[in-house]
Amino acid sequence: MRWSAQELSKEQTGALPGLARLNNLVRSVRTPAFAGITFHEVLAKSALNRVPGQSAMPFGWTINPYRGCSHACSYCFARPTHTYLELDAGKDFDNEIIVKVNVAEVLRKELAKPSWGRHPVALGTNTDPYQRAEGRYRLMPGVIAALAQSGTPLSILTKGTLLRRDLDLLVEASEVIPVDLAMSIAIYDDELQQAVEPGTPSTAARLATVTAVRERGLDCSVFMMPILPFLTDTKAHLDAALRQAKAAGASNIMYTALHLRPGVKDWYLQWLARDHPELMPRYQELYAKGAYAPKEYRIWLAARIKPLIRAHGLERGREDPATGGVRSSALGRPQPGNPGAAASGPGYGQDPSSRFAGGRSAVAFPADDRDPIGRSASAGRTLSSADAAVRPAAYARTRRSLIEEELPPELAPTLF
Ligand code: SF4
Repeated sequence: MRWSAQELSKEQTGALPGLARLNNLVRSVRTPAFAGITFHEVLAKSALNRVPGQSAMPFGWTINPYRGCSHACSYCFARPTHTYLELDAGKDFDNEIIVKVNVAEVLRKELAKPSWGRHPVALGTNTDPYQRAEGRYRLMPGVIAALAQSGTPLSILTKGTLLRRDLDLLVEASEVIPVDLAMSIAIYDDELQQAVEPGTPSTAARLATVTAVRERGLDCSVFMMPILPFLTDTKAHLDAALRQAKAAGASNIMYTALHLRPGVKDWYLQWLARDHPELMPRYQELYAKGAYAPKEYRIWLAARIKPLIRAHGLERGREDPATGGVRSSALGRPQPGNPGAAASGPGYGQDPSSRFAGGRSAVAFPADDRDPIGRSASAGRTLSSADAAVRPAAYARTRRSLIEEELPPELAPTLF
């Protein structure tokens, strides 16, 4: 089927049962360039997703242009979210990809509401915004531009080397808003990496992307998430990983041990039983009581990796008060119209010649936490110095806990 021959006008009949219930399904598409994958194009009603319990959250909002992910990581904690569409959390998650073709257009409307508080927005917290389909659909440029033009800080976490395509845009955006970038690179053994994450770019290609980001003057964190017990937690692997990340220019490292929530556990253990049957008893024991690796294992892992992170000079950097991520080097640049931007905390300068001119130049929080995009009557207000002392700290603290501990299972299904 040729992509160019498709019309974005009518609903597809005969689609999969769960999808058929979506009255916003436009069409389902297969193409030889993406063998085995079906793209279900939908017209999204909303783009911004609120993370529950916002008062305690770091980035209160997320955007997921895609549901499902062809990167196909066997440990992916977002897998169970596919079951809401009567698709399975295994192969369907990898091969039945929902594409929100109008995400940028809808986002612009949401960001234009007077009550939008310009809370930091995270991309890549659930499914990867730079998975292969993005090469075809090009949704991210519109999303980045919309966020930058509205003065909304953004962060992106990805395994996709396609991020390089948008570096010009991201560099330009970083001149008006905080931009935090992170590459997820957890496995530094090529054979193992291809077995566990069969749809992802190689480790070498992702490291090269880190270098490309750094060469453009932006910071880039490397997320070693997850560390797989008995597979990637040896001192030799951790040391080699950190050495390569450092050589690539990583600004800092974040790590966490494997988390196996229900629905993911079965899929991961199926893979383990095939490729490493000798480890099954140890995993059954380690994850017998729940989704998280036991506290003893996490303490052991911390004692092993933290000295190595220090030795390689990859400790966590200074936190950005607005996004809760590591402070972006973009904020350290002198900026036209705001030479003090580097030292001014969450007030961001703006280049009037930028294509993003017109966005607001200070981060604002809504007066009412229930009112981020116009669901109550109260208007947004600009961040005060008192807020700067309190709210960003809460943002940073919670973002860190989300990233380091991974999302509590009860949150993940709500992130779309
Ligand atoms: S890249 Fe991220 S979202 Fe995609 S399958 Fe892997 S872990 Fe899941």
